[in-house]
Amino acid sequence: MPTTTTITKVTVIGLGPMGTAMADALLDQGYDVTVWNRTASRADALVARGAHLAPGVGEALAANELVVLSLTDYAAMYDLLGPVEDRLQGRVLVNLSSDTPEEARKAARWAADRGAVQLTGGVTVPPSGIGRPESSTFYSGPREVFERHRPVLEAITGTTDHRGEDPGLAALFYQIGMTMFWTSMLSYWQATALARANGLTASDILGHAVDTANSLPGFLAFYAERIDAGRHSGDVDRLAMGMASVEHVLHTHADAGVDTALPAAVAALFRRGMDAGGATQSFSGLVELMGK
Ligand code: NDP
Repeated sequence: MPTTTTITKVTVIGLGPMGTAMADALLDQGYDVTVWNRTASRADALVARGAHLAPGVGEALAANELVVLSLTDYAAMYDLLGPVEDRLQGRVLVNLSSDTPEEARKAARWAADRGAVQLTGGVTVPPSGIGRPESSTFYSGPREVFERHRPVLEAITGTTDHRGEDPGLAALFYQIGMTMFWTSMLSYWQATALARANGLTASDILGHAVDTANSLPGFLAFYAERIDAGRHSGDVDRLAMGMASVEHVLHTHADAGVDTALPAAVAALFRRGMDAGGATQSFSGLVELMGK
């Protein structure tokens, strides 16, 4: 049974909106927090609240065993920690910067070669969700290290979801979420542009947009089972019907003089499914096409 360590001191490197919220949450919960940021002035408010500003990134590493990294990407980590890599021995790097699963695996090996351990994190909430019990973060990496430091991780977001030992898994879950987030939000901007071209405001369509988004969980659950069973039969929907529908969407945008890049890309995918012989199958069959 892994044991939990009562760590009271934490370093946070990277004080963008996320790192700042994390350092704030740790201070709120009584941790002794050392911070460092490339642009030092971003630490001012935290220092006023009792955080220690390390004079350099090496000193920030030396200050504590547990080091939270909240940087734009993993390249920023190499920029920062590369020159002080001799300070990494014995450190636990909780890397909450986002990047690809492959970058997360590479960084875990890089850290291990320098005597440190990386826990990869994928935070699923914006800065306003940091420090809140209902917020959640994916983690992956050594389970024992995760369990040992769970209280600190729970101070950052109340729910911690360890997905496995592979350091790439937390990044993969994060990227799965972001795949849906960016395209869903883009579809909302697209719908709003169409509404505005027709004299409606974002507020006018908000209720309809929310109802549409709220209808999606039922579709996801329905199709997940069938996809896992390899079943794409056209008993509920057929790709040929979808093809006609997405073309109506495309033409509605073209008629209104709205950018058609997104609806055209959707129609092109449906067309490839049709060309592959999927007309009488469900549009869920596109998942097989995309997987190739
Ligand atoms: P920002 O990109 O705004 O800030 C990240 C930090 O990285 C800053 O402190 C910045 O320093 C530092 N940084 C970037 N490049 C370098 C470099 N080459 N050398 C040194 N320092 C560098 O990100 P956020 O705080 O918004 O987010 C942090 C991470 O969390 C990102 O990976 C993001 O994808 C992820 N995330 C963000 C969410 C959000 O809503 N903001 C939600 C979920 C995840 P400086 O201040 O000097 O510019």
